[in-house]
Amino acid sequence: MHKLFLLPGDGIGTEIMAQVERLIEWINAEGHAEFEIDRGLVGGCAYDAHGQAISDADMAKAMAADAIIFGAVGGPKWDAVPYEVRPEAGLLRLRKDLGLFANLRPAICYPSLADASSLKRELVEGLDILIVRELTGGVYFGEPKEITDLGNGQKRAVDTQVYESYEIDRICRVAFDLARTRGKKVHSADKKNVMKSGVLWDEVAHIAAKDYPDIEFHHILADNAAMQLVRNPKQFDVMVTDNLFGDILSDAAAMLTGSLGMLPSASLGAPDPVTGKRKALYEPVHGSAPDIAGKGIANPIAMFASFAMALRYSFGMVDLATRLETAISAVLDQGLRTADIAQEGKETVGTEAMGTAILKQFAA
Ligand code: NAD
Repeated sequence: MHKLFLLPGDGIGTEIMAQVERLIEWINAEGHAEFEIDRGLVGGCAYDAHGQAISDADMAKAMAADAIIFGAVGGPKWDAVPYEVRPEAGLLRLRKDLGLFANLRPAICYPSLADASSLKRELVEGLDILIVRELTGGVYFGEPKEITDLGNGQKRAVDTQVYESYEIDRICRVAFDLARTRGKKVHSADKKNVMKSGVLWDEVAHIAAKDYPDIEFHHILADNAAMQLVRNPKQFDVMVTDNLFGDILSDAAAMLTGSLGMLPSASLGAPDPVTGKRKALYEPVHGSAPDIAGKGIANPIAMFASFAMALRYSFGMVDLATRLETAISAVLDQGLRTADIAQEGKETVGTEAMGTAILKQFAA
């Protein structure tokens, strides 16, 4: 029995989660696995119900789950709520309390969508990159973090980039372990030419690399990594980097592949010392898309692909994960398109029809 905690959130979050729930029910009914499902509130809907972006009771359920499947949060309705209880605070609390330090952002180019990329087809067709971003440290969290009034009409802003070796070591090992299941190549991106944190990052990455002699290991400066991503992205397999560079490089890599509605992600914690299981949260990269919420036209593929990551990384169900990813690819090959990935003037399908087609293909 595997415990799934579903947090659909706001806007299109609920619409795309409904499609994945159909898939989970089918997997259970066919006896491929036994998932126990619980549901909670996060984001604006949690604020409406409890005055908090996630309640303590739902946090406790999240802590006890084998995997959290998260939709999206936010919307104009909650733009003016107090900062500490804004919808995103629910996601940040989950990441922090569960210690989800490793953010996995795949950038896969489906052959039938290669022409939707801003790069030429031959540069992106067959692209399969995994960016592993450190998520709980670095300049987004380092102290001091402040703006000081200097009293002479000037102000000074400070952010602090800080990493300890254990934080670098554990994220690099996640990247090396994942590379073993893929193309066996890791690039570590930092700015060791101008930043002390980069010098330490590179030193620790090289030490960790010694334990992975089967992995081809390269250092790359983060600015060069950005350049290479748009020049020749297929040279990369796994790229590991810090919180700030990872934020930027993963978005750049993702957009090589087309629409936001296609992009999954996973955030993993440290393995439990007894069970070896990692806390994990799976979510599409996109937000709650208030502009299309309630219209039944959201693309559910990022949500399905996030669930495929859960099957692979939390439950070791590699065959089912591959089957789901193959079903997505096949449905795209058949020409089915939601509005966000359709060429102008071409026929489109809604969220439910796309879900049904993927489910049918998966079950075939
Ligand atoms: P967004 O990702 O919600 O939408 C950006 C654009 O992409 C919109 O035009 C939207 O219609 C489209 N889009 C996104 N996902 C789609 C899908 N699955 N199918 C079809 N089209 C899709 O970003 P935004 O508009 O900047 O933010 C909207 C709200 O979401 C805000 O409240 C923001 O704070 C929140 N947000 C939440 C998350 C999260 O939950 N992790 C991430 C980003 C933004």
